[in-house]
Amino acid sequence: MHVQFNECQIELAQGDITEQSMDAVVNAANSGLRGGGGVDGAIHRAAGPDLMRETRRLYPDGCETGSAVSTAGFELSAKYVFHAVGPVWAGGGEGEAELLSGAYRRCLELAVEHDCTSIAFPAISTGVYGHPIDLAAETSLTTVRDFLLEQGRPGLVRFVLFGGGAYGAFCRVLETFI
Ligand code: ADP
Repeated sequence: MHVQFNECQIELAQGDITEQSMDAVVNAANSGLRGGGGVDGAIHRAAGPDLMRETRRLYPDGCETGSAVSTAGFELSAKYVFHAVGPVWAGGGEGEAELLSGAYRRCLELAVEHDCTSIAFPAISTGVYGHPIDLAAETSLTTVRDFLLEQGRPGLVRFVLFGGGAYGAFCRVLETFI
């Protein structure tokens, strides 16, 4: 499904984020930016070893939780990878929503800074980091909608959701925005 905000569109899709032909794809990274499983492993495998080389060279100290950094996309069809560090779920009282929102917002700022007209996000923090999917959908979609209403770009934001459960959760929230 998709919904229009300003001149921009939020689109929900099921699939593999590494297969997206978008200007930027977002990686659900850890703060050391040292690779891992889930989205991180899939993106590094698809982009090839130059992605890790560039990440280590540019960001030897990693990236703080609630923010994101950019690299090239190498063998991905995306021009850029934005490595976003979401929070580990710790029950909801440790600022998880603000940190998750910050990670999305920084990626959208990077998209604007790099003149990207399209960006694909996974459901950051909803895998190994344990964020409940319904809460993550609410925080993620609200953050993106508010940014698009304020900034009017990037033109296309696609959430690429792995499996029907995540897709359904995001659809239920996006429907409330119509
Ligand atoms: P985190 O550590 O931020 O929780 P994960 O990579 O473990 O990140 O998971 C984030 C979300 O991405 C989960 O919902 C997971 O099911 C999903 N996911 C895993 N692999 C892919 C992929 N190749 N494309 C899109 N989503 C994926």
